[in-house]
Amino acid sequence: MEKTIHIAVVPGVGYSHLVSILQFSKRLVQLHPNFHVTCFIPSLGSLPTDSKTILQTLPSNISCTFLPPVNSNDLPQGIALVLQLQLTLTHSLPSIHQALKSLTLKTPFVALVVDISAMDALDFAKEFNLLSYVYYPASATSLSSYFYLLKLDKETSCEYRDLPGPIQIPGSVPIHGRDLFELAQDRSSQSYKYLLQGVEKLRLFDGILINSFIEIENGPIEALTDEGSENLLVYAVGPIIQTLTTSGDDANKFECLAWLDKQRPCSVLYVSFGSGGTLSQEQINELALGLELSNHKFLWVVRSPSNTANAAYLSASDVDPLQFLPSGFLERTKEQGMVIPSWAPQIQILRHSSVGGFLTHCGWNSMLESVLHGVPLITWPLFAEQRTNAVLLSEGLKVGLRPKINQNGIVEKVQIAELIKCLMEGEEGGKLRKNMKELKESANSAHKDDGSATKTLSQLVLKWRNFGIEKQV
Ligand code: UDP
Repeated sequence: MEKTIHIAVVPGVGYSHLVSILQFSKRLVQLHPNFHVTCFIPSLGSLPTDSKTILQTLPSNISCTFLPPVNSNDLPQGIALVLQLQLTLTHSLPSIHQALKSLTLKTPFVALVVDISAMDALDFAKEFNLLSYVYYPASATSLSSYFYLLKLDKETSCEYRDLPGPIQIPGSVPIHGRDLFELAQDRSSQSYKYLLQGVEKLRLFDGILINSFIEIENGPIEALTDEGSENLLVYAVGPIIQTLTTSGDDANKFECLAWLDKQRPCSVLYVSFGSGGTLSQEQINELALGLELSNHKFLWVVRSPSNTANAAYLSASDVDPLQFLPSGFLERTKEQGMVIPSWAPQIQILRHSSVGGFLTHCGWNSMLESVLHGVPLITWPLFAEQRTNAVLLSEGLKVGLRPKINQNGIVEKVQIAELIKCLMEGEEGGKLRKNMKELKESANSAHKDDGSATKTLSQLVLKWRNFGIEKQV
């Protein structure tokens, strides 16, 4: 019998960074049953219920070591979300080191794979003689733009949003400076400096695993793996998504799926802004009125308002979000739509035959989930690298329509209603649906036995196996 090969994994903090790397681990042990994955789980305060539920569904060849939670009072107050995620990992480094030190005495790990926000943990790889990999749970286009920042930073001095035309990143769809990473929008900020330091470091590791696949992002993946990219090794192991949403309130879950069962095929627009995206009160009003005006069926996951777009990412509000909807809206639309507070079983919804469109914040997990279920999009990015994803989906792959924002940063109700009509009933919507169907097919073939993602994972596995053999000699 072949010897067990051990991999150590450090996920990021936050639902979407945890789910993606765990799903990758599941795929690894499912296709290569002689692998064992040990996950070191960091957290900011106690683990949220959704994350705990995911951890309860792991197979026996994935085990978890829970790191001591970081206390949010130990982090500087009022800092950007990305910095909170990164600092949580910085505070967890001593316990990751300790856990690796004690486990490597009895477990012959060959590789350490960490979420991008946990990159600093790879400093330990040398000490324990491990191969080192970053897991990048987002698009190749955004990773390319990340690398390209080094060049842009040297060659330009203005804010990127003030550049006169779009930027041509090798292999990628042209992107306006305003659509680059949120953290790159203020070049004097601490967050931007942190972003640049991170990208310099990425080349020092044995590889980067990205949750994407050749058929969706051929250009940027080729450009990243090109020999000219200074020996950067990029492994496109995607599309990796959950097969079921394992969390959410059960009553809610069944109620919305039962409601979908009663609707016509492809007639419902699903509206959701990811695991923590939030809108301002003014924007909630416009969205509600736009949905109503469209006359199309909708299923909307509503959160309480905030002027910070990622306010609910790390801590959900316990205030009932329905009280923030415009007066009379629920009564007037009770035949037209359904509203779900805070969290919905997204995979089951996207898989449902009644769903014909997805108004989304363009988080990468949501994007891949929509692709794998063939649902065309209204692309409404909020934060992080979501604007870059919106450009890829709307202008590059042509599977989505992007709303225009007025000078106060608001998408108005008339615009929302027009886009919904265009997506759900117009000729253009038909074309987007057809393009999405083709993408769905190629996404599914990436995971077949001879598919691109399966082959890429096998290359990686071979490397890990050989390294394990070398280590023993
Ligand atoms: N999700 C869900 N129910 C919700 C909202 C989100 O199951 O009501 C899941 C969704 O299926 C996806 C993840 O949460 O897997 C969101 O990840 P994404 O990368 O799209 O966005 P983020 O949460 O990072 O902004």
